[in-house]
Amino acid sequence: MILLDPLNVLIVLVILGVLAVIAYKTHIVTKSGLVAAYFLGLAIWLLTSWTWFLIVLIFFAVTAQFTHYKYKIKRQHGAAQEKGGARDWSHVLANGGLPLSIIIIGFLTIVLFGQMNAFGRLEVGLGPLIIPAPLVIAVSFAAFLGAVATATADTLATEIGLLNPSPPRLITKPWKVVPPGTSGGVSLAGELATLMGTLLIGGIAALLAAPFWINFFGISLMPEITGFAPVTMIIVAMVGGVVGCAVDSILGATIQGMWSCDVCGKQTEKKHHCGEPAIYLRGNRFLDNHMVNIVSCLMGAFVAIALYLFLFGIGFA
Ligand SMILES: [Zn+2]
Repeated sequence: MILLDPLNVLIVLVILGVLAVIAYKTHIVTKSGLVAAYFLGLAIWLLTSWTWFLIVLIFFAVTAQFTHYKYKIKRQHGAAQEKGGARDWSHVLANGGLPLSIIIIGFLTIVLFGQMNAFGRLEVGLGPLIIPAPLVIAVSFAAFLGAVATATADTLATEIGLLNPSPPRLITKPWKVVPPGTSGGVSLAGELATLMGTLLIGGIAALLAAPFWINFFGISLMPEITGFAPVTMIIVAMVGGVVGCAVDSILGATIQGMWSCDVCGKQTEKKHHCGEPAIYLRGNRFLDNHMVNIVSCLMGAFVAIALYLFLFGIGFA
């Protein structure tokens, strides 16, 4: 049953347009980042509801603020984001692609395998397994929270960690001090920022819990039957995000690919630096900064699902 109301869609298009103009004018995104963010936001909003969209929006807005925060100090370390911190399409997709994929998988699962049972409740039949549709959405939401919390916390940890008064230590060899901005380097400020980032995403989710599961395609499942308590959302986002960030740091300290920039002479975790292709140094060529982000967000999502199902199983969720 597809219930796309043209007026509602128009309102969404206009709101996204206004946000896009603000994001571009304030240098949060580049032109390519703007196009990617617009369609990403549109897909997330239409497939879920404004609440899921708002969580992703807050991620982009907050992380952009912290990228700009003390930008000059970070640039002295050579560790600041390029282009004044404006995000291009690859940043947008590396951070927003996974949450959107999770939403699409959850949505398709319900649309393709959903059926009404004798009591008029929507169920999902996967072979012999019959799952209430609200549980499918709750699991999707747990994964979504784990992924967004990881992305938020990782970005904040990177940006705020750079401002730690003493240099970071390597997560795999804590006795080893490394220069600020080194992949796999951790600091007290960075760890506190990780906790703050995950708490922010979990807290927003908990606050917005009420009108959660109504989307534009007519799937309307009220929160009282989803069994996803606000406090559980906070726990799931925090644990998923902290584990996801730890995975990010461990990959950064071990097998992540490293490149060297010919222009500024700095080592970087990016294949391009100073607008030029960088020279390969070591590590896995496939695992550049974006891939490591995606892998760690995926781990955050899996941990969040496992924790949610465990809490649900013991009757806590
Ligand atoms: Zn460079």
